[in-house]
Amino acid sequence: MNECIFCKIINKEIKSEIVYEDEKFVVFKDINPKAPIHLLLVPKQHISSINDIDEKNENFLEGVFNVIKNVAKRLDFFETGYRIVLNTGKDSGQEVLHIHFHILAKRKFSWPPG
Ligand code: 5GP
Ligand code: ZN
Repeated sequence: MNECIFCKIINKEIKSEIVYEDEKFVVFKDINPKAPIHLLLVPKQHISSINDIDEKNENFLEGVFNVIKNVAKRLDFFETGYRIVLNTGKDSGQEVLHIHFHILAKRKFSWPPG
């Protein structure tokens, strides 16, 4: 049985606010937002992290970028800018082991990140 929380969101077994969906990706609102807009972009395929991306995932990033741009235009932060965060592994603080891109927008972000 798949206990992955993001797989359950993708399969609609757990409720979430989905803002975009196609045959390969889902984008939903983070339950604990760190900015006025804080979305999580996930592939429908269960991949634990960037470390598990391989040649079978051809064009993966191209698909991710297209979804990000689509959502940025629709939710009106394409021009104002946004930050994409991809945590990988223990030191990064990755908590959910289903690869997810954080999409943060509608405020200024500092550098370096914490
Ligand atoms: P990570 O630390 O793994 O990069 O980020 C996991 C993110 O998933 C966190 O920002 C957390 O708030 C979010 N999250 C965890 N559980 C749920 C959930 O059940 N629903 C939603 N919408 N977001 C979740
Ligand atoms: Zn999963």
